[in-house]
Amino acid sequence: GRLQSAASEAELTKIQQVEAHFQQETQAVSAGQYVVEDAEHTLVEPSDEFRKTALIPSLEKYDALYKESVKDPDAFWSRIASEFYWKEKWEVNDGKIHTENFDIREGPIKVEWFKGGKTNICYNALDRHVEAGRASDIAMYWEGNEPGYDSTVTFGQLLELVCQVANYLRSLGVKKGDAVVIYMPMLVELPVAMLACARIGAIHSVVFAGFSADSLAQRILDCKPKVVLTANGVMRGAKLINLKSIVDDALAQTKKQGHAVETCLVYGNEVATKKEETAWVGERDVWWQDVIPSQASRSEVEWVDAEDPLFLLYTSGSTGKPKGVLHTTGGYMVYTATTFKHAFDYRPGDIYWCTADCGWITGHSYLTYGPLLNGATVVNFEGVPTYPDAGRCWEIVDKYKVTIFYTAPTAIRSLMRAGDEPVKKHSRKSLRMLGSVGEPINPAAWKWYYEVVGDSRCPISDTWWQTETGGFMITPVPGAFALKPGSATFPFFGVQPAIVDENGKELEGECSGYLCIKASWPSAFRTLFGDHSRYETTYFAPFKGFYFSGDGCHRDKDGYYWLTGRVDDVINVSGHRIGSAEVESALVLHPQCAEAAVVGYDHDVKGQGIYAFVTLVEGVDYSEELRKALVAKVRSQIGPFAAPDVIHWAPGLPKTRSGKIMRRILRKIAANQIDELGDVSTLADPGVVEQLIELKGK
Ligand code: ATP
Ligand code: MG
Repeated sequence: GRLQSAASEAELTKIQQVEAHFQQETQAVSAGQYVVEDAEHTLVEPSDEFRKTALIPSLEKYDALYKESVKDPDAFWSRIASEFYWKEKWEVNDGKIHTENFDIREGPIKVEWFKGGKTNICYNALDRHVEAGRASDIAMYWEGNEPGYDSTVTFGQLLELVCQVANYLRSLGVKKGDAVVIYMPMLVELPVAMLACARIGAIHSVVFAGFSADSLAQRILDCKPKVVLTANGVMRGAKLINLKSIVDDALAQTKKQGHAVETCLVYGNEVATKKEETAWVGERDVWWQDVIPSQASRSEVEWVDAEDPLFLLYTSGSTGKPKGVLHTTGGYMVYTATTFKHAFDYRPGDIYWCTADCGWITGHSYLTYGPLLNGATVVNFEGVPTYPDAGRCWEIVDKYKVTIFYTAPTAIRSLMRAGDEPVKKHSRKSLRMLGSVGEPINPAAWKWYYEVVGDSRCPISDTWWQTETGGFMITPVPGAFALKPGSATFPFFGVQPAIVDENGKELEGECSGYLCIKASWPSAFRTLFGDHSRYETTYFAPFKGFYFSGDGCHRDKDGYYWLTGRVDDVINVSGHRIGSAEVESALVLHPQCAEAAVVGYDHDVKGQGIYAFVTLVEGVDYSEELRKALVAKVRSQIGPFAAPDVIHWAPGLPKTRSGKIMRRILRKIAANQIDELGDVSTLADPGVVEQLIELKGK
């Protein structure tokens, strides 16, 4: 265990002493099959076999490239950018291809890469491969929610579909710089719609299909699209979601508030909802199947500037009102492609599966753009990992011979909860690489993922990044160096992390504090849509001269980075600063605890107390005895001062639709401020909140 975070130097010394003390105590404890006794000292080397063929097979090679990338980013990135197609080359001023200001004392925050260069990301993701003779290679395997529903799309077919949608959008008058809102399930047509926008220079804004009508309306009012793309319905697991009625509600709201959407293009998804049962607004709604197939299958590319906007995406909203993050074209293209290639050690022939939805940044950068720019074959899965049962993922891995599998800790923990049997039933021998994203992965879940899912053969890339960063920032380059369970390891090429104390002073060597980034990287977000001053105050004002991530971080003596969660998730118990992630990690070590979420609450004596919500393994009942055992687990793992004051049984936890626990809501429940829960519309299942309120004190 480790105490982390935002602390002054004096506090840090104290923390280190306490750490040393509990390190000893931790070593004496052995519970649960997947405990990692001392993650910081556990080095997991890539196998010789993996290393032999790896793109970057040694630490020396990584080091050399990293040094070059920070010493001369302009030379480093222009060399990589030259591998893409540019209609016109970017400007070079004094040897520089980028300009930036990260210091608000020097004027407005500004980032630009490859300015003056003319390109198109859709062309680079599709046409380039087709023109290289790869038209009949498979670009995408689509796997439906219901087993047995699937399809295969080649690069040639994908390009034709994209062109048809691009032509239709053009026929409606959508042009370069216009926003298009996409509210679609994970059909092939979702990435198609994104690429079609990119092809004509329109700015896509994907809203996760399942967000409430209010959330959708709010986003539409923000970027004012002429056209909204959707489907009539979708099955997610065993649940029917009537997308069209949500869209109808949202569009009625925006119309009332002064923005009438002209066209709503509806994909008829008959597996979920019959066309004739779909409500229809005659002058506005159009069936996809009525207008798209008749379009010409070629469509001209709109060449755009590297700094023209590519998309707008709202953050998941784990901490508050979602922010409209804006990404531009050139830097995003170069960076997502390069990070994809190296973090997953990608080479032609790999079958890559990312379980994220296109409604999130991961679905943009690492389901759509990054892989397709590399000409990779991707699996696009419409369903959920546990439907119809906990073996579904491994069935899909075997079906398509997936070699790279990328998912989130929340999915890993829920699969772990179902035991090893559903995993072991399937061969999984095609797998050679695993990935994790979205939250810190606790060492026990890491170990299970590594040993059970990957048969101790596949490196895990724990990728730390954000909607704002566009691409991976801290991530393993798996052939180059050893992993440590639960660490995102080292910065990617060109990324200069800085861990700072609360005065903004950069800390050296082994330390804990606030994670910042010192200089720009190609896929950095350029602004918050329509609110540049919120961009500056949220990210650049807290620590002058740095981009502030909002996350806490520890760097160990070997230079490995350990993400410790958001800094506002730190709980101060009698002067001890305890990260919620650390207590959660200890709780899930108990064999009967499947998932835990920990928050602070006002405590008369200690200042703050620890309030833990726990979800139990299937079939286990909550009891006083178990409560005591859970508290004991934390005491022995971290120390008595971290023992939870309250254990609250949670059959389900409030999560964003991307699977992140919304601690903001849990804090309100813990504090008994039930009437101040705030916006719960970004929750995957708002019903769990009521359930939790009911179980309070039980
Ligand atoms: P909001 O900013 O609206 O509150 P969000 O931060 O959850 O929402 P995202 O941009 O989707 O929105 O998530 C980025 C955050 O997810 C990071 O700041 C970090 O807290 C967490 N995260 C992502 N990947 C990792 C990882 N590999 N390890 C640790 N934390 C991670
Ligand atoms: Mg965030």
